Amino acid sequence: MNIITSLSEMQSTAESLRNQGKRIGFVPTMGFLHEGHLSLMRASRKECDVTVVSIFVNPTQFGPQEDLDRYPRDAEGDRKKCESAGADILFMPGAKEMYPEKPTVFVTVEGVSDILEGAVRPGHFRGVATVVAKLFNIVKPHIAYFGRKDFQQCVVIKRMVTGLNMDVEVSVLPTVREPDGLAMSSRNAYLNADERRAAAVLSRALSAGEELINAGVREAEKVRAKMRAVLLQEKGIVIDYAEVADPETLAPVEIVNNGKVLLVAARLGKIRLIDNLLLV
Ligand code: AMP
Repeated sequence: MNIITSLSEMQSTAESLRNQGKRIGFVPTMGFLHEGHLSLMRASRKECDVTVVSIFVNPTQFGPQEDLDRYPRDAEGDRKKCESAGADILFMPGAKEMYPEKPTVFVTVEGVSDILEGAVRPGHFRGVATVVAKLFNIVKPHIAYFGRKDFQQCVVIKRMVTGLNMDVEVSVLPTVREPDGLAMSSRNAYLNADERRAAAVLSRALSAGEELINAGVREAEKVRAKMRAVLLQEKGIVIDYAEVADPETLAPVEIVNNGKVLLVAARLGKIRLIDNLLLV
């Protein structure tokens, strides 16, 4: 596995791979890798000739009160995991090279960036869209792989790609979970034993919402109320939202039928967790 830290070297490597007719698969991450990340790498390995994984903890997607400095890091462990998942190139750019000066150029995806996560984390999706656009220009992928775990992020990225006519295919893969249902996340490492046990309530709330719908309930408000009630079974939890939305626009819906998405976000202690369930 080749490790690249320089932007120009990554760009020229990508260019020469393209000239050789190789298909480039790209998995952008913030590191502290787990099975969710590895599932994206394996998909890329299967579908592309070369798999590039980036690790970059992007400062512009963190708010001033958020956990940028505390975000977990493990460069050596990550390198081994990438290697064992069959990544060909690990791209680890430095923050100074990605942002040599205070950024003045941004990608804003209006509408879907301001609701749900965007309402709680103003500016977050502008930071995400901007860094992903920059990474696409550096890595030049044919296919980029994202996890459904971050449902709203996938919507933002797809809209960016369509809206700016980027020549990249966006592939969204299912959420990888712990045995008790908790969606894997780098931030789970910060849950204490009590919080870790309680954290499974997010996926239980989604399942309870789904059960209600499967039982024939069509009023979204009842599904929201059910998900909130299940979340509140864990004392000390603070709910940010429990929503039933249209998966394309993320607008809340009143009537639930197939093809909607359930989304929850809650805080346990200092840790914020999100999860979602796409109804088929
Ligand atoms: P992150 O390092 O958290 O920015 O995530 C990098 C990529 O991995 C994003 O596309 C995430 O959606 C994806 N990802 C994170 N957690 C999971 C998971 N549990 N299952 C599948 N994909 C995930």
